Amino acid sequence: MTEHAVVIAGGGPTGLMLAGELALAGVDVAIVERRPSQELAGSRSGGLHSRTIEVLDQRGIADRFLAEGQVAQVAGFAFNRLDISDFPTRHNYGLGLWQKHIERILAGWVDELAVTIYRARDVTGLTQDDNGVDVHLSDGESIRAAYLVGCDGGRSVVRKAAGIEFPGWDPTTSALLAEVEVAEEPELGIRQDELGTHSFGRAEYEILDGEIVFADEGPVGVMVTERQPAPSTEPTLRDLSEALITVYGTDYGVHSPTWITRFTDMTRQAASYRDGRVLLAGDAAHVHSPAGGQGLNTGVQDAVNLGWKLAQVVKELSPPSLLDTYHLERHPVAARVLRNTMAQVALMRPADARLEALRETVAELLSMDEPRKRFAGMLSGLDIHYDLGEGHALLGRRMPDLDLVTADGPLRVFTLLHDARPVLLNLGEPGGFDITPWGDRVQMIDAEYVGTWELPVLGAITAPSAVLIRPDGYVAWVGELADQGLADALATWFGPPAAA
Ligand SMILES: Cc1cc2nc3c(=O)[nH]c(=O)nc-3n(C[C@H](O)[C@H](O)[C@H](O)COP(=O)(O)OP(=O)(O)OC[C@H]3O[C@@H](n4cnc5c(N)ncnc54)[C@H](O)[C@@H]3O)c2cc1C
Repeated sequence: MTEHAVVIAGGGPTGLMLAGELALAGVDVAIVERRPSQELAGSRSGGLHSRTIEVLDQRGIADRFLAEGQVAQVAGFAFNRLDISDFPTRHNYGLGLWQKHIERILAGWVDELAVTIYRARDVTGLTQDDNGVDVHLSDGESIRAAYLVGCDGGRSVVRKAAGIEFPGWDPTTSALLAEVEVAEEPELGIRQDELGTHSFGRAEYEILDGEIVFADEGPVGVMVTERQPAPSTEPTLRDLSEALITVYGTDYGVHSPTWITRFTDMTRQAASYRDGRVLLAGDAAHVHSPAGGQGLNTGVQDAVNLGWKLAQVVKELSPPSLLDTYHLERHPVAARVLRNTMAQVALMRPADARLEALRETVAELLSMDEPRKRFAGMLSGLDIHYDLGEGHALLGRRMPDLDLVTADGPLRVFTLLHDARPVLLNLGEPGGFDITPWGDRVQMIDAEYVGTWELPVLGAITAPSAVLIRPDGYVAWVGELADQGLADALATWFGPPAAA
């Protein structure tokens, strides 16, 4: 039987990111993907939020995405655009870039890291025992792995086969999404009526002065809300035509669809992100309305949280219990996304005088600075705070990408994270720390930083003298040379000290 240390079911954005993280850590990882190529029918995600751009920057690959996308203020809550240009981050914006491009660029990176991808076959089931998992495939073969991660989307076979509950809420609304040719040119842009929100656009666009300017030609992208939440069957051209006539009084002679799909506001989350040697990430672990554009972003960040932990467990540097911190940290993040998307769906419901009053009230609140910052921090992912206990404001929060000065010259913090290895950054007296027992795993850097310390939403914070940064860019410890806590933090996150 073929063997790999980790098998990932599904090579969408989450599976690709996770594969890259594991490969960087030197783990033998393989993806099993249903699609014969990375080609993606349909538009799905429209881009990246600030924190996702940051995590890609931590790996030195953000420029690949920035070179192809449209930089813009994309964070939004219901109909309210939230400007983050005053946030203290190098990427104080979002990026408009269709999911097919995001996947292609991620796949290129994963390819450079020589990850094995078994294409055109499905994971159909699994059998796990104390030592590993047999991953059953649609071609009749099985692969043996120490761990299996289900990144196989909302209808995850892995989640079902592992018997993990997926509680939540059934859909209250559905919409058709398609790319078509038209006989009669529709007016491009958004329309709102008593059924909900609808739009026409083109896949090719530019953002000029914050406004979308669509290309003059090419297939038309359409989104139309349906009268009743429809079942999750494959939609047809006839469904699309009927839905358009209901809203616009005409179907504009739609024909030759490249693809038609339906999405809903079904909202569910896996009760547990881990069952023994089986883990879940991305849409396999959480589904919700696309409002606010958070699904892909949450999945990619799940992968970055899980990757280094799983690598350490597979390499037997850390005990399997480290994997429990993945659920503990990431389940609350997605639970918050579920909650804010449900609130957005409720706010965007069809016109009604009382809802209109609520929308205006929320818009008024979000035009104030403090609420704007809080909601923008949430939507952009910049405010994520893992509960690592009481302490300095940086503890459990993202490490800012500071411009450091070292004996070897200037250095950005994120450059230190390119190889996904932890860093002890000493900003105090040089040469004070001795982390020899972890020297094989943790980089030690003496540096100076002269600027102010500021976090998104929180504002100014006190300057720390030393920080321990995890490979995912979150701060695991803040302290002084004399602190006993450092050895505990090193052992908790990066395994017991090596024997002298
Ligand atoms: C209309 C719409 C708009 C959206 N807009 C945004 C947005 O603006 N921003 C945002 O962040 N998110 C957005 N999303 C959500 C985003 O598309 C998803 O959250 C994202 O694709 C999840 O990535 P994933 O890798 O977890 O799952 P998926 O993208 O679903 O990938 C799963 C992969 O697994 C494969 N697969 C499935 N089953 C198996 C199996 N049994 N065996 C092998 N392979 C399998 C599939 O072929 C696929 O490649 C939107 C979604 C929709 C529908």
